[in-house]
Amino acid sequence: MKKIIFATSNPNKVREVKEILDGQYEVLSLVDIGCHEDIPETAPTFEGNALQKARYVYEKYGFDCFSEDTGLEVDALNGEPGIYTARYAGPARDADANMAKTIKELEGKANRGAQFRTAMALIIGGKETVFEGIVRGSIRKEKSGSGGFGYDPIFEPQGYEITFAEMDKKEKNKISHRGLALQKLIAYLKKLEE
Ligand code: IMP
Repeated sequence: MKKIIFATSNPNKVREVKEILDGQYEVLSLVDIGCHEDIPETAPTFEGNALQKARYVYEKYGFDCFSEDTGLEVDALNGEPGIYTARYAGPARDADANMAKTIKELEGKANRGAQFRTAMALIIGGKETVFEGIVRGSIRKEKSGSGGFGYDPIFEPQGYEITFAEMDKKEKNKISHRGLALQKLIAYLKKLEE
């Protein structure tokens, strides 16, 4: 099976991407290639951060790879937390604290619309391509469900009455920001192989 390097050390993202690529590619994470560094993410955009991580691995290890950066953009908060999604409630990157802060910031606001956005950067033989995936939805007033990770317990995707954390993982992968970006990446790779 063809190997592909996913330049992340987030085990939740690795799990989801492995579920999606199962049977098509063997997915190797940063840990699998012996990269234990904390790769800098200092760009002002998701796209910039995704490219920064992929370039780091490509330049230092010489592997074709892809990387992604994701965030939650809340309409009534002018798109916040955006690139600060992981550290919204502080440097501890605590999911419960981040969700509590999001709920608090939306108190009394009628518009609870939000979206997850993923930028996925692929580098093949030095050629860079970025794919985007967006899922629209709304922020619940309370957490619900125990699946998934991050903000999943408070995010209800549009067209559903359950949160990502209550959704079957296959279903989440089909409609999610990460799943959609990855589908575009796979289609691109297939074209290259033709
Ligand atoms: P990063 O892309 O690793 O910087 O993650 C940004 C933030 O978004 C972290 O707080 C993640 O927990 C959160 N996040 C990323 N993907 C998802 C998802 O699929 N569901 C819920 N939260 C997510």
